[in-house]
Amino acid sequence: MLSRVHHSVLLGITGACAVLWMCAPLPSARAVETQSPRPSVAEDFPIASGVRIAGDDKQTRFILDLDHKIDVRAFTLNNPYRVVLDIPQVTFNLPTGVGGSGRGLIRAFRYGLVMPGGSRMVFDLTGPAKIEKAYAMEAANDQPARLVLELSAVEPSAFKASSVSSAGSGDLNQLRPAILADADANPAVPDTTGMTKAMTPTDSRLVVVIDPGHGGIDNGTQAPSGEAEKSLVLDFALALRDRIEKSGKYRVVMTRSDDTFIPLGDRVKIARNNMAALFVSIHADALPKKEGDAQGATIYTLSDKASDAEAEKLAEAENKADAIAGVNLTEEPADVADILIDLTQRETRTFSNRFARMLANEMKSVARMHKHPLKSAGFRVLKAHDVPSVLVELGYVSNRDDLQHLVSESWRSRTVGSVAQAVDAFLGKRVVSANPPSN
Ligand code: ZN
Repeated sequence: MLSRVHHSVLLGITGACAVLWMCAPLPSARAVETQSPRPSVAEDFPIASGVRIAGDDKQTRFILDLDHKIDVRAFTLNNPYRVVLDIPQVTFNLPTGVGGSGRGLIRAFRYGLVMPGGSRMVFDLTGPAKIEKAYAMEAANDQPARLVLELSAVEPSAFKASSVSSAGSGDLNQLRPAILADADANPAVPDTTGMTKAMTPTDSRLVVVIDPGHGGIDNGTQAPSGEAEKSLVLDFALALRDRIEKSGKYRVVMTRSDDTFIPLGDRVKIARNNMAALFVSIHADALPKKEGDAQGATIYTLSDKASDAEAEKLAEAENKADAIAGVNLTEEPADVADILIDLTQRETRTFSNRFARMLANEMKSVARMHKHPLKSAGFRVLKAHDVPSVLVELGYVSNRDDLQHLVSESWRSRTVGSVAQAVDAFLGKRVVSANPPSN
């Protein structure tokens, strides 16, 4: 489906979470839109019913047919060259496979929800381009309402991040997904996800942050039968939240609890702002057919040097989540050189590795593990220097048995139980060591 093709086009890589099934039949885009366990697509959102692309590699026009006119904001991004259209939430009823390839300056595109009330289209360009126009038109002369994007090629030296808006009505700031650091927005994004209500001063329990990977416009990997990683891992994460909350011992904060896109940096921020005692990111992997078959769960921790080539490839793929969703990647904060941060980080990594081992031990009694279940690589989502963090790949959606597990209620329940057990064992120890007897 889309994400597969998009991943493949965008990344030009094979393997890992962003895997491609170039030869497999494409499930319909509409099926994907409705796969989310909690669809945020309601009847009364504008409906996008078709796309047309015309032109060549000098000038390209993209048209989206709609049932009524909407506002649009368009901007360009670098590294890789992309154009982003931010629009109000739209129900995309587009034909199967649309966006997998483009024309002229548009190599491929994808679309989806980036926040409640906000949809986004991200275009991968064949080269540097500038936005000539981005505007919406009312229905007229038997033509439906349309959104039009006109691009023209520029020299790489002439490319600059630019922004074009068509606010026919309403406030553009409302149009802009606030959680995304885009071309001209201040990279210091406000924290919008669960932090305010999470910071209850009277609640002194340790905080566990559960991070279901991907979401919204970023589908993650895709099983040949159509199941999207973003939905599988959300189901798992919600069940894990419920299980941990039931014990009453820890406070759980989710980075997302519905089908919304959250940038990687914001996920890390949620962990840090909540002073989390533990951050658990949940994913599901996939291998392309030509790379054979792999199965079982793997637990990843952060390291500067990947434990093996597969881990490195996976981290690269997972780190592309923001590029997929059209987040500006040029504003990466520089690594802070601070000896105290270094020390904290070293201790945090020790804790992360300890938890990873405890988790592997618990999980192996109920779930099938990968033949090398403990690995490490440079995952951006694991980079909170003061929060022990692991990323769990629950299994391979490309493996038939793993997929059967991933969609099975009883497997999920057993495995969630083992993760909750490991969390309790790990945090129980931390509570004891953090509060030595005072007499
Ligand atoms: Zn993933």
